[in-house]
Amino acid sequence: MRIIKTIKALRLCLAGFRRKGKTIGFVPTMGYFHKGHISLMKASKKANDITVVSLFVNPLQFGPREDLAKYPRDFKRDSLMAKEAGVDILFCPSPREMYPGSLLTRISVAEMSQGLCGASRPGHFEGVATVVGKLLNIVQPDVMCLGQKDAQQVAVLKKMVLDLNFPLKLNVVPTVREPDGLAMSSRNVYLSPSERKEAPAIYRALKAARVLILSGELDATKINSKIKKLILEGTSASIEYISCVDPDSLKAVRRIKLPVMVAVAVRFSAARLIDNIVVTRSIGSP
Ligand code: AMP
Repeated sequence: MRIIKTIKALRLCLAGFRRKGKTIGFVPTMGYFHKGHISLMKASKKANDITVVSLFVNPLQFGPREDLAKYPRDFKRDSLMAKEAGVDILFCPSPREMYPGSLLTRISVAEMSQGLCGASRPGHFEGVATVVGKLLNIVQPDVMCLGQKDAQQVAVLKKMVLDLNFPLKLNVVPTVREPDGLAMSSRNVYLSPSERKEAPAIYRALKAARVLILSGELDATKINSKIKKLILEGTSASIEYISCVDPDSLKAVRRIKLPVMVAVAVRFSAARLIDNIVVTRSIGSP
């Protein structure tokens, strides 16, 4: 595995592969890898000749009161895990390499960035879309792999790719969970031991919502209150949002029409966790 830190060196390296007709898969990340990241790397490897993973904690997507400085980092462990997963290139630019001067150009995916997580994290998705837009221009992959766990990010980037004609395919990989159902996340390390025990209640509540929907409940308000009750009863967390939305437009629905995405964000003392499920007609959907 090559570890590359500059845009120039990465472009030079990738031009060689492209000349040989190799296809390039790309996985953008902020590091502190877990099995969710690894499943994206494996999905990229399976469908492409060369896999590039970026590891960049993007300052642009953190609000002033968010965890940029203390976002978990472990480069040594990450590079070992990426190598083991068969990644060909780990691109880890410095903030200076990505943002050398003032940045006057941003990518804003308008109203899709404002609901759900966007409501409490103003500017977050503009930061995500801008850095991913830059990374796509740098890497020019054939395929970009994203995790369903960050469903709003998927929807926003899907629309950006469509609106701005980025020539690539998106591969959305199902959420990887701990054995007790908690969605894997770099931020799970912020949970206290007792919060960690409570956190699987989030996914249990989402699964209960799926059962309700598939048994014919069509009223989103009733489904939201059921999830709220289950999470509040099972955890010490507060709820930031619970919403039944259209999986593509992210618009909230009042009356359930399949497929529907049920998305939640909850706050524990030091960790903000998100999760979602998409309910389709078959019980076995992700
Ligand atoms: P991050 O490093 O948190 O920015 O995540 C990088 C990529 O990994 C994003 O596309 C995430 O959606 C994806 N990802 C994070 N957690 C999981 C998970 N538990 N399962 C699948 N993909 C994930």
